[in-house]
Amino acid sequence: MSAFDYDLFVIGAGSGGVRASRVAASYGARVAVAEEHRVGGTCVIRGCVPKKLLVYGAHFAEDLKDARHFGWDVPDCHFDWDRLRDNVLAEVTRLEGLYGQTLDNHKVMVFRSRATVVGPQKVRLADGQEISAERILIATGGWPFVPEFPGSEHAITSNEVFHLEKLPKRIVIAGGGYIANEFAGIFNEFGSKVTIVNRGDTILRGYDEQIRDRLLQISMTKGIDFKFNAPFQSIEKNDDGTLAVHLENCDAIIADAVMIATGRTPNTKGLGLEDAGVALDAHGAVKVDETNQSSVPSIYAVGDVTNRIQLTPVAIREGQAFADSVFGGKPTVVDYHNVPSAVFSHPPIGAVGMTEAEARNKLGSIRTYTSDFRAMKNVLAGRNERALYKMIVNAATDQVVGLHMIGPDAPEILQAAAVAVKAGLTKADFDATVALHPSMAEELVLLK
Ligand code: NDP
Repeated sequence: MSAFDYDLFVIGAGSGGVRASRVAASYGARVAVAEEHRVGGTCVIRGCVPKKLLVYGAHFAEDLKDARHFGWDVPDCHFDWDRLRDNVLAEVTRLEGLYGQTLDNHKVMVFRSRATVVGPQKVRLADGQEISAERILIATGGWPFVPEFPGSEHAITSNEVFHLEKLPKRIVIAGGGYIANEFAGIFNEFGSKVTIVNRGDTILRGYDEQIRDRLLQISMTKGIDFKFNAPFQSIEKNDDGTLAVHLENCDAIIADAVMIATGRTPNTKGLGLEDAGVALDAHGAVKVDETNQSSVPSIYAVGDVTNRIQLTPVAIREGQAFADSVFGGKPTVVDYHNVPSAVFSHPPIGAVGMTEAEARNKLGSIRTYTSDFRAMKNVLAGRNERALYKMIVNAATDQVVGLHMIGPDAPEILQAAAVAVKAGLTKADFDATVALHPSMAEELVLLK
C-alpha cells in the first residue's frame, strides 16, 4: 500500500494537465486532478477552439461577397452575433463533456475545486480537505495580463470576449500580438470598426518582417486602424455607456468595447508554490528542467505555467513526456526546435523555423526565396489581396531552415511543409517534388 492518497495530483485540467493525467493513469498510476474553472482549460474553453470557430464564422463575410463572382445570387446577408456566440458556447460545452469523459474513462478522480500546494507532497482543496500525492504536477496555464492604468476595469480580455452580449460597433484592441490580430480580423469581418493600439511600432514580434508587413498592409486595406507607440493612459466610461480611450501621443478614441491582449502571465499567484520551495522566474513561471521537474523533486510543471512556448500542442507534448518519463519508464524530452505556429488573422499566417533576420544572425550566409502571388480564387473574386510565401535556406548546406507564409489556408499548408523542415530537407528536395496543380501550396516547390 502506498503511503500517499494518490501517485499523482495534477492541478489544472487544461491541455497539458489532461494529457498528463490520462497517460499517467493508463500506466496504472492513481491520478487525481483539480480544476477550479472548467475541464478543458484555456484552449478548449476560452482560447483556440472557440476562437477558431469565430474565425470560420467571420470568414463567411468575405465568402458570401465572393460567391457572387462565382455565379451565386447572394442576397444582402445579416450577421447574428447571438446565434454564433450561442452555437460556439454550446460546442465548447460539448467538448468540455468529452474531456471530462476521457478523464472518467481513465479512472482519473476529478475535483472541481481550486487546489493549492501546502507541501512538496500535499495539496489543499478549497473546502480545506488535504490530499497527499507522491508527485504533484502544476498545469495551471496562464491568465490574461492587463497593464495597470485608470479605468482598466472597463476593458475585457480574451476570457470575456466569447460571451459579449452585443457585437460592439466600435472596438479598441490593445496589443499587437496573436490575440489582437486574430480578434481584429474577426470583429472587422463582423462589421465592427476595429482599432488596434500598440505600445510599440510593430505587430507580431518574432514573425518574419515581410510577413508582418503584409498582414499590416492587408489589415489596413480591409479597414482596420492601427495606432502605434500609443500606450494606454486611461479608459473613461461615458454616461451613454460608451468608453473614451485616452492614449499617449494620440487623440482619444470612443468605443463600445475595449479588449486588452497584452500577453498572458503564468498562473502561479496564491498557489503556495514559493512556500513549498518551488523556484519561480521573474514572470512568476515555474522554473523546470528539461524533464519538467521543478526545484522541488516531487513537483513538476508543464504548459503555459512554465512560460516556455505558450502553445497548446507544446503543452500536450510536455504532459505526455512527463507521464511517459515518470510513470511509463520511457524517458522523453520535448524537442523545441522547429515548432510550427499560426496566427488565425484574415488572412492567416503560418511559420516554422528561423525568420530571415534570425537566419542571417545565426548562419551568416543564407538564400531567401519568395513567391508573392494572388490566389486564383481571389483573382476571380476581384479581391486584390496577395499571398506571400518565403523560404529561408542555409547557403552552406542547402537546408531549408525557415518557411513563412501568409495567405488563404496558410496554416493548413504550413503544417505539412513543417514536416519537411523538421526533417532537415533541402531546397533541392523541395524542387524535386512535382507541383500539385492548381493549388496555392505548389508555390512551395516552384520557388525560384
Ligand atoms: P502576445 O505575446 O502575442 O502579444 C502581446 C502584445 O502586447 C505585444 O504586441 C506586446 O508588445 C504588447 N504588450 C506586452 N506587454 C505590454 C504592456 N505592459 N503594455 C502594453 N502592451 C504590452 O500576447 P497575446 O496576448 O496576443 O497572446 C498570448 C499568448 O497566447 C501568445 O503569446 C501565444 O503564445 C498564445 N496564443 C496563440 C495563438 C495561436 O497559436 N494562434 C492565438 C492566441 C494566443 P511588444 O511587441 O512591444 O512586446
